[in-house]
Amino acid sequence: MSLDGTYDPDNIFAKILRGEAPCARVFEDDHVLSFMDVFPQTKGHTLVIPKHSTARNLLEEDPQILSPLILGVQRVARAVRAALEPDGVVITQFNGAVAGQTVFHPHFHILPRWEGVAVGRHAAGGMADLNELKDLAGKISAKIA
Ligand code: 5GP
Repeated sequence: MSLDGTYDPDNIFAKILRGEAPCARVFEDDHVLSFMDVFPQTKGHTLVIPKHSTARNLLEEDPQILSPLILGVQRVARAVRAALEPDGVVITQFNGAVAGQTVFHPHFHILPRWEGVAVGRHAAGGMADLNELKDLAGKISAKIA
């Protein structure tokens, strides 16, 4: 998929938002939902998505949706840090398939990093155990300020 196109209301994140697909939920407010990435690149790989978006990527996003989204990203990233005590935190997002985007609903990745621990391949590793993800989600959720 290129940068151009129409929003698919049946993308996996739209299904998660509608409760039609499961997720290990970390945080939710009126604007954003945060949950664990099911193909984590590092332990604690967390996603933050807007709840009311019909954009396919960041470039298309309405500034009124983007503003609370990035505040949600900061809030969850701080909780990831407090819960997992990483040495660093990568925050990233991709726009268009060529850039690495695989789900066409806006989202940010939060990847805690530890000294000497490699990052897994993007959207290509093994599927994590849902119970382990729920355990991590609980630890991060408990640190949301
Ligand atoms: P993108 O490649 O679009 O930047 O990121 C999409 C992310 O969604 C990937 O990191 C991928 O592992 C994750 N993902 C794909 N399907 C699911 C799913 O069903 N549940 C969850 N929690 N994450 C998913």
